[in-house]
Amino acid sequence: MKRVMVVFGTRPEAIKMCPLVNELKSREGIRTFVCVTGQHTDMLSGVLDAFDVVADYNLSVMRQGQGLSELSRAMLEGLDKIFREVNPDIVLVHGDTSTAFCAALAAFYLKIPVGHVEAGLRTYDIYSPYPEEFNRRAISIIARYNFAPTEHAKKNLVREGVADRSIYITGNTVIDALSTSVKSDYRHTELEWAQGSRLILITAHRRENIGAPMRNIFKALRRVIEDSEDVKAIYPIHKNPEVRRIAYEEFSGCERLHLIEPLEMLDFHNFMARSYMLLTDSGGIQEEAIALGKPVLIMRNTTERPEGIETGGAVLTGTTEQGIYDNFTRLLKDRSLYESMCDKKNPYGDGKASQRIADIILRKSY
Ligand code: UDP
Repeated sequence: MKRVMVVFGTRPEAIKMCPLVNELKSREGIRTFVCVTGQHTDMLSGVLDAFDVVADYNLSVMRQGQGLSELSRAMLEGLDKIFREVNPDIVLVHGDTSTAFCAALAAFYLKIPVGHVEAGLRTYDIYSPYPEEFNRRAISIIARYNFAPTEHAKKNLVREGVADRSIYITGNTVIDALSTSVKSDYRHTELEWAQGSRLILITAHRRENIGAPMRNIFKALRRVIEDSEDVKAIYPIHKNPEVRRIAYEEFSGCERLHLIEPLEMLDFHNFMARSYMLLTDSGGIQEEAIALGKPVLIMRNTTERPEGIETGGAVLTGTTEQGIYDNFTRLLKDRSLYESMCDKKNPYGDGKASQRIADIILRKSY
């Protein structure tokens, strides 16, 4: 019986790891343990409930005002104890969070093999996203199994000297998640408010954008929304108090834009499925939007997910007011551009990534 320990801590990781947890649990010959670190708390439970996943361990590491060093120390200590108790054959981590980095490091110290889900994403700018670009590069040094979502991610790893035989192209597990979350009979009062208009779904919260870039973003969005009578926008606003302060100032009195509380995953995925297009500075939403056939404007200067831009479903707008205004206006006005962006092949997977990863784990001896 293989003992597989899955560790995650944030909402985006949970969305992408829960389909894998369920796949592993369905396999004979695997005993699965789930450890959540508590890097996100309230935002995690809705995702666990939606996938019917129960954590075996919860480190509850988050403290008010805690810095990255303190957070990492708490996670390393807690994970070390759990790994010693469970004695797993492999530890699976996801992506680029501090949780993923600390779990990989704690496993490495105990010489436990690490499998890295969503391996090989890069911007090659160590401060963007921060600290995630460092985290994912450091995990690639440790991981014995690299589950790369795309050919592009694999190439990044090979270029860095990661052994070819350790890399498996699996697709992204987020596509697996969407197949359970999007429902045809979904209803919500906010969607009723937007009915009859083109619905624009917005998210913006990246740490690198807080301050002047975020003001630019919001000013541009407001100008376009106020110019376009057939458009309504919904912005589920992140809990970060600074993001909230800037958003409430910049959007005050803008009637065709609703600032709402962050949505549960099931709601967010169904809002996306019913929107006309998305504007975001998020990572994972780029993949989800394209998978759902929704054009996406990426309000950042770099992205670790160039596949969406290469296939034509996404555009990188930068964070200047004019850049965002021009791209947003063009996409609203140019119907054939819009339709061509909806029609692009999804480069992020076919919904079977979890199956492939479980197959590889069963096949391998450690
Ligand atoms: N998401 C959500 N509710 C929201 C906004 C986003 O459930 O109100 C989900 C979204 O579907 C995606 C993930 O959270 O899977 C993206 O999270 P975020 O933008 O925080 O992180 P990133 O992907 O940039 O790391």
